[in-house]
Amino acid sequence: MKVVLLEYTQNPEKVCAVAALTSMKEGAPSDISNEIDRDNAKKRIQRVVGYGHYSVIEHASFTFSIEGISRACSHQLVRHRIASFTQQSQRYVKMEDVPFVTPPSIKKNKAAEDIYKQSLNNTTQSYKKLLELGISPEDARFILPNATKTNIVMTMNARELLHLFNLRCCNRAQWEIRDMTWEILYKVLEVSPAIFESSGPKCISEGICTEGKFSCGCYKLFEGKTIEEKRKITKDFFII
Ligand SMILES: Cc1cc2nc3c(=O)[nH]c(=O)nc-3n(C[C@H](O)[C@H](O)[C@H](O)COP(=O)(O)OP(=O)(O)OC[C@H]3O[C@@H](n4cnc5c(N)ncnc54)[C@H](O)[C@@H]3O)c2cc1C
Repeated sequence: MKVVLLEYTQNPEKVCAVAALTSMKEGAPSDISNEIDRDNAKKRIQRVVGYGHYSVIEHASFTFSIEGISRACSHQLVRHRIASFTQQSQRYVKMEDVPFVTPPSIKKNKAAEDIYKQSLNNTTQSYKKLLELGISPEDARFILPNATKTNIVMTMNARELLHLFNLRCCNRAQWEIRDMTWEILYKVLEVSPAIFESSGPKCISEGICTEGKFSCGCYKLFEGKTIEEKRKITKDFFII
């Protein structure tokens, strides 16, 4: 899997701070934009996000290339409706070699991995035979499994990203979308630290866990820790 931040709103914190100030000031947004400096924008955004006034951060969007995830993962991802997606087509792309994702649980179990590989190998051979018989890729793809790799371009605004981090950085999310979402989090944190400074699963961003009896319990290790340390605890929790 590879996650690349392709493009994002220039000066995301400034754009969102101008939006925030527009709601409270008499002046035109363009004048506010000329007056506000980076430090002020940062402070304004930290305050506004702290209040939960999230609509202003909808003005910053981020476009990612997400490469080599499984179709199982992409299906989970596209359930997030406040975003734009463009996915590699299995109708138009005739796959010469069908690439697959192997879950870590299968990778570390030799007997399971043998069954997995054999099944995927059979599927690949059958897919190719269907194409040779003149079946179109859009119909031959019906036999391809959830493991099939895909590429997807995703554009999401900062508000929806915070929501995505709440749900998909959580240890209740599946390993693949969780790994992908943590990569996305660290990428946006780098370019927009003020907007994303408290971001993460709910146990980090809101200080609560709503998973009840399914909670992983990682928050029990949070006392006295910085936000970055909390992120590391949660992210590596199942590895510890
Ligand atoms: C651990 C986990 C397990 C899951 N298991 C399942 C499962 O078994 N089966 C399954 O089908 N799905 C499952 N999902 C997917 C889940 O139900 C959501 O579809 C997905 O997480 C998208 O999140 P969302 O609906 O909160 O919001 P998004 O689509 O990301 O939208 C963001 C927010 O916008 C608002 N919003 C968006 N659209 C509407 C609307 N039409 N009406 C009102 N408000 C709206 C809501 O406040 C929403 O939270 C699972 C998700 C997770 C994280």
